Order: sequence, then structure tokens, then C-alpha cells
Amino acid sequence: MHADQLACVTVPIMRDESDPQVCFADMPARGFFRREAVLPAAVFYAKELPRLSRPSRGWAKATCVFHHPDRHPSLSVNLATGGFRCFSCGAKGGDVIDFVMQRDGVDFVTAAKSLGAWESSCGSVSSADFRKQKAERERREQAAFDFRAAEKALRLRYRHDIHTLEAVQRHAAERLRDPSITIPETEECWRRMAMVVSALRGASAAYHLLCFAPAPQRTEFVQRPHLRHAAVQSVLAHGFVRDDQGRMVELVVP
Ligand SMILES: [Zn+2]
Repeated sequence: MHADQLACVTVPIMRDESDPQVCFADMPARGFFRREAVLPAAVFYAKELPRLSRPSRGWAKATCVFHHPDRHPSLSVNLATGGFRCFSCGAKGGDVIDFVMQRDGVDFVTAAKSLGAWESSCGSVSSADFRKQKAERERREQAAFDFRAAEKALRLRYRHDIHTLEAVQRHAAERLRDPSITIPETEECWRRMAMVVSALRGASAAYHLLCFAPAPQRTEFVQRPHLRHAAVQSVLAHGFVRDDQGRMVELVVP
């Protein structure tokens, strides 16, 4: 469906981005599509679709924007490619451009423009502006990437804590079953067991939150360490986390 635009798509944006005198002269007069200016699908859909679910194998679910009302989220979107499909109304497409075209009922150029990915004419955007936009886009992408990395590292850290604490607990329990254990050793084992229980509950609650809570809650947890204790206490008090679909996901402390 983009066949009439393909010639434009392949036109390079600039011959030399470092040259402030860069010329746009050999570009088609009607403008051209800048695919690299389109937001990454994950960012685009997070912005456009409220209550987007956590992805499973790269696909996330949301309420369909192509038919109403959609009581259960029937729209699946691929956060890597931008592809989408509604199992209820049959709407489908291969990328976020298709998504905007179908949702807004517009042509390719209008969709590209609304995504900020259409260069309407030679020199309409100065190379300085273009560089600024590009730097800003790269900064946003880097921030999103850094956040995902920080979130993953934190989740792994809690998982590691859980495994370590469970090993200590297992070892103490084994020692306590040994008939030849001395009294001071018994006391030491019980002291360790008591310490482990509390730490294990905290680490499990934190891990649970990072696995199941909706994005805003996870973001706060990752970015504001001073609020983590209160968040963990709240999960422990309730005994569950609500996911982004509002469902209760029960906390099971080992
Ligand atoms: Zn639908």
C-alpha cells in the first residue's frame, strides 16, 4: 500500500549530516518519508493506547480503537514491528503508519505527517533543526533503553536475593533436623531463619511488583529508591499487586 511512496522512502535525508551547508536539492519536491523519524513501535503504542498490557513474546493487548465498544482488549500490537491485529473486528496492519492511516482514515502522507516523519519540501526543515530533532529523539530512545535496562537489573537483583535467602533458609532447616546439632548451633539456626523470613518477604514483594505492576508503578519503583520501602510494605499488606488490566495477582511468599 505504500508502493507509490517507495521512491521517496529510499531517498537519503542528507548527504552529509555534519555539513551545515547540506543541500536538499535532489529530493522530490513533494517531500519524502523519514522512517527513522517514526517513534519506536513500543513508545508509540504506549502513548496511543491506554491500558496497554505487559507484552508477551513481543505482543501487547489493548482495547481496540477500530471498533466500539470493545469490552475486552481484542487488539494485539507488536511492540517491535508495529504490526497490529484485532481478533474482534479484523483490523490489521504491518506498522504504526498503517495503524494511523486506518485509525484516522487518512492517506500515507497525512499519516507520516502526523507522525512527524514527513519532510514536506526541500529546506522546510533546516539541517540545524533536523539535527536538534534527531538528537532529541535519540535522547528519548536512550532514556527508554536505560530505563528498561535499570528495571531488568533490579528485577534480577531481587531474584538473586530470593535465591540466596532461600538457600540460607534451606541450610538452616537441614541443620535443625540433624540430631547431633548442639544447643548454640540450634540457636544460631533459629536466629538466621528469623532474619531470612523478613528479608525474603521484602524481596519477594519487590520482585512481584516489578513483574506484574503497571508501568507507572514500576517506573516509580525503579526511579525513586526512597519510595521502594513503602511500596514493598503496601504489597505485603495487601498480599497482591493489581496488573495493568486491574486484575489481582496474588503474592506467594516462599
Ligand atoms: Zn477491533
